[in-house]
Amino acid sequence: MTRTTSGPHDEPPRRSRLLLATTAAGALVPLCLAGWLSWQAVADHGRDDTAPARAAGAAAPPSTSSSAPPSAPPSAAFSAPSSTPVDASPSADAPGATPGTAAATPSATATASSTATSTVLAGRTVLLDPGHNPGNAAHSAEINRQVDIGNGRKECDTTGTSTNAGYSEAEYSLDVSRRARAILTARGATVVLAQDGDRPWGPCIDERARAGAAAHADAAVSVHGDGGPPGGSGFHVIMPAKVVAGKADNAAIVEPSHRLGLLLRDSFRAATGEPYADYVAAQGLDTRSDLGGLNLSAVPKVFIECGNMRNSTDAKRMTDPQWRQQAAQGIADALTAFLTTR
Ligand code: ZN
Repeated sequence: MTRTTSGPHDEPPRRSRLLLATTAAGALVPLCLAGWLSWQAVADHGRDDTAPARAAGAAAPPSTSSSAPPSAPPSAAFSAPSSTPVDASPSADAPGATPGTAAATPSATATASSTATSTVLAGRTVLLDPGHNPGNAAHSAEINRQVDIGNGRKECDTTGTSTNAGYSEAEYSLDVSRRARAILTARGATVVLAQDGDRPWGPCIDERARAGAAAHADAAVSVHGDGGPPGGSGFHVIMPAKVVAGKADNAAIVEPSHRLGLLLRDSFRAATGEPYADYVAAQGLDTRSDLGGLNLSAVPKVFIECGNMRNSTDAKRMTDPQWRQQAAQGIADALTAFLTTR
């Protein structure tokens, strides 16, 4: 997103972190083990020791400095059933196909084969919403149009941010979404993308919000990269606050969206080794009422800001296809867990 005009992606000010911290803490207990597993997978523990510390309070993780390489998360964390294949046949930039060579997880390596498919998600539908559109910059009149998000009005869409080297958030989010689609499709899911590089601009945020219901999706994830302060790094997940105003009424999706948010937070960290954002949110979680994509969604939905594209360390990761494959793995695993552990 264009940080010059607002907060992360589409829309401005971030919410209070207090409420969120409470929510996160409450949810942490049942997740402590998974949290510890995730922590084990993070090589750079020093960057974020608060999470493990809290988890330790409840679960007392074993001794430890055994750190696994970032690319080798515990296969178990939140991933799908063990039979679930992961990335059958990577191939770089083919739309729809899972690129990257890189097996994101040990299980990916183990199961990689052209026959690696399963039906664990058969009958389930997922909406992936790649933030922004590479063509938005050339369509400012269209994307600057105001749309109704229930409790206010916002621009139809924004251009999104980019790394200092010019790798755009729109390219990033579309690539990761396509990679996640390949993984989920191999697990039997029907996957719909809110845009697949098949339109000149947009869609507008209200249309993105409606896309979940239009696809009869069971869950939705909007993929973004943040445009934060250069000194800040890490990822965070944005969950919907309850908004009942004007045309918005997302009361029914708040609880399941928070469940999805927690799964995504833990799964993404396990798959990528990316620390929680140190410049926004708390414990990798935020809750907002100013995002049209969440206010107007009729299906459980969260946003993920996969990293800060203005930060050199995060930019290097996000530009790396192998890391993007891990990011997609984390997103796909979270959706799989959400849809199979209801
Ligand atoms: Zn964005």
